[in-house]
Amino acid sequence: MSRTWLQRLQHSIAVNDALALAVAWENLRRLYFAAAFAVAFDLIHILVFWLNLQGSTPEYDDWRLDIITIHATVAVLFSGLGLLAWLASRSQHTTPLWFMNLLSILASAILLGFGIAITGADQQVTSSITPFLMASVGAALIILTRPRHAITLYILALGAFEVTMTLTQATPELRLSNQMGGLTICGIGLILSLILWHGHVRNLRQREFLRQQRLELEEKNRQLEYLAGHDPLTGLFNRRQFDQLVGMELSRVSRQPAPVSLLMVDLDHFKFINDRYGHPLGDEVIRHAASLLRNYTRTGDSVARLGGEEFLLLLPDAGHAQAHSIAEKIRKLLEETPLPMKDGLLYLTASFGIATLEAGIPSTYELLYAAADKALYRAKASGRNRVEVIEVGAQMGTFD
Ligand code: GH3
Ligand code: MG
Ligand code: MG
Repeated sequence: MSRTWLQRLQHSIAVNDALALAVAWENLRRLYFAAAFAVAFDLIHILVFWLNLQGSTPEYDDWRLDIITIHATVAVLFSGLGLLAWLASRSQHTTPLWFMNLLSILASAILLGFGIAITGADQQVTSSITPFLMASVGAALIILTRPRHAITLYILALGAFEVTMTLTQATPELRLSNQMGGLTICGIGLILSLILWHGHVRNLRQREFLRQQRLELEEKNRQLEYLAGHDPLTGLFNRRQFDQLVGMELSRVSRQPAPVSLLMVDLDHFKFINDRYGHPLGDEVIRHAASLLRNYTRTGDSVARLGGEEFLLLLPDAGHAQAHSIAEKIRKLLEETPLPMKDGLLYLTASFGIATLEAGIPSTYELLYAAADKALYRAKASGRNRVEVIEVGAQMGTFD
């Protein structure tokens, strides 16, 4: 039972520690607005008491002077505090946390001290302790104070208030009434401070939770986007993504004439490999071929897995000769790079069909695709492990 209670306390302390910086920045922001407001409030009081608009008699001069002195002192203190808070918030990343916390605690202490001092001074004319109530509630509302600091602050304020009443209120009954009132006021201030702290912490944690969720969602979206455009076995582009890339490339060459080639690759006798060594090794072969294709091609070239052991390559700016030479190099590379197996090496070959479109010749993806397929068929028919090229003709829809 007590273990659970202790654990909860430790958890709260850890949460408060983790949020200390976020709370300190929030306090800093509140502080310089509060300081501006407090100084204006003090100046109005100084003016009103100075001008003695109510025309109070000279016997109250001491009281008026006390009130003016207290407001002037608080105005000076808050000006300094506001200035420091403003400077600290301008250099948030270099201001140490302890300094920001000190400013916040000082602000609360000044507010509470102000309430006690005014209430003490007021005892010359009234037994009211309303200023202390307002200061206590005001400090709780304006500054977010960590529970352990709030408890210390309000206990100290209570002590200071009780001493002040002892010194300033001569009538025992009124003194007792005020001292009890002070206890209630400190209790209210402390409870309010704890409630507001708790609410703010919950708010910050929920915001953090939502931020984390958003990040996770963005990450999932990125993964989905990747999966939507890539083949899971090889990591190459899938057909869907490849179609888009070809579409973009064809519209580019229609605006800025340049050659482009489409290369279709099909591993030779792959069914035999599957049948002989099993599908898992067949998959291994597909990955091996994919990695050779990807590593060999230039940046700007796109490689996709069409399905099975068939691949498509888009070679921008590659005309007949260049596409043929690239395909020939890949063909040789594949032939000379066997896949290591448990009991030896597996030699592979592939056939290549190329459709090339020279600069300035209009064409469509369907046409290029059909031409590459036809070239591949020729390569297979002429004995496999070879490259065949078809140049798409100037007349739309023609190739030999
Ligand atoms: P050819 O030289 O004429 O291309 O002969 P081939 O045996 O390679 O011909 P074909 O294209 O008919 O065979 C492809 C085989 O690839 C058929 C199918 O079982 C197999 N296959 C398709 N997708 C996958 C896959 O993802 N993994 C594995 N291991 N095999 C696949
Ligand atoms: Mg095939
Ligand atoms: Mg094949």
